[in-house]
Amino acid sequence: MKRVPIVLFLAFAVYTMGQEQSQPVARQVIVIRAGTLIDGKTDKPRRDQVIVIRGNRIENVSDAASAKTPAGSTVIDLSQQTVLPGLIDSHTHIFLQGEDPAKGGYDANILTAPLALRAARATAAARRALEQGFTTLRDVETEGAGYGDVGIKQAINQGYIPGPRLIVSTRAISTTGGYPLEGYAPELEMPKGAQIVDGPVEARKAAREQLDHGADWIKVYMTHRSWVGKNGELVSQPTLTVEELRSIVDETHGWGKKVACHAYGGIGLHRALDGGCDSIEHGLDLDDAAIAQMLKQGTWYVPTLSVYYTDWGPADTPDGERDRLRASVHEVSFKRALKAGVKIVFGTDMGGIPWSEPIAQEFTRMVEFGMSPMDAIQSATSRAAVMLDKEGQIGAIAPGAYADIIAVGGDPLNGIQLLEKVSLVMKDGQVFRDK
Ligand SMILES: [Zn+2]
Repeated sequence: MKRVPIVLFLAFAVYTMGQEQSQPVARQVIVIRAGTLIDGKTDKPRRDQVIVIRGNRIENVSDAASAKTPAGSTVIDLSQQTVLPGLIDSHTHIFLQGEDPAKGGYDANILTAPLALRAARATAAARRALEQGFTTLRDVETEGAGYGDVGIKQAINQGYIPGPRLIVSTRAISTTGGYPLEGYAPELEMPKGAQIVDGPVEARKAAREQLDHGADWIKVYMTHRSWVGKNGELVSQPTLTVEELRSIVDETHGWGKKVACHAYGGIGLHRALDGGCDSIEHGLDLDDAAIAQMLKQGTWYVPTLSVYYTDWGPADTPDGERDRLRASVHEVSFKRALKAGVKIVFGTDMGGIPWSEPIAQEFTRMVEFGMSPMDAIQSATSRAAVMLDKEGQIGAIAPGAYADIIAVGGDPLNGIQLLEKVSLVMKDGQVFRDK
């Protein structure tokens, strides 16, 4: 892999402590010479392109042969590389760190970690995402860290810490019996990893509170526990009723925002669709009726394949059997949804996976299960942008879009795992460089 000389970065680098993102960065002009351009929208890569960036926006994209380079511009030579839009992961948890069961797992994170420690870890996770070329995350709840994601987003936008554009969903919503912490003495009032509601009135109130305090999306858990049923099928415990969910969806849509629903399969998944969820998260076990309803309603599907291959229990235990079944039915559902034309968007559940691991590993699974590399890239660029109501602003290298740009050595269409090794990351017209 050919790297851009570091000197080049230093010439115009750019990450400035405390600089408000909303204030115009110097209206510098940067010209990128791209050997190959995958623009995130069109299906064919283009050779020898020139991208002109003014301030934080892409001004122009043209063939190198006919391109005019504005006077006084800084040139980044990526003529030996493939240039793509900054990537979008639409299912992450910056407040989780792949909690090691041997160290107390999920519960310890809530019971023993001071909030400042959790915020510091989330700061590191955000940086990790950016340095891997993920310039936007839809972070789907803080797992007991309250409105911490709103604070991290502000810190990024105000220039105090490096990180992706964050679309946050704050506390998430589930029901009594529908979220950890659990398994403690019933006399103890334990904190929960999500906001617990029972009944449509409480459900609507929780959505209002979260939206009022800065949620960009609302996250709802429509299933919770899962196990292997008596016929060898995956069974998931449903949580909210359709009535409860509808009050959340109605409220959220009124604010011009959307609802992401964690749903594995069965009753909870069908309630999620009947209640009008905008995106189905995980969707491990999609039956024919669910796929048909998703097509009809235009529901987004955010599978998270890789995370279900980690931390399997021993094979001959109920948990171990359940863990293996989750991965195998997820593969089948993904392939069926792909064939049926369901709108699939890239998501990983990072945080469930330690942030030390490559985010882009999910691309490899998607391609292994039959998605074309270009389709997989679009699921993490322009298609994600449409779901996030940011079409034309992110996920595309085109005039008017934010200058969120990455580069990789080689051709990711011939080796999708190359996306695990980005050589340049630009967000908002600024080159981010680690170390
Ligand atoms: Zn998740």
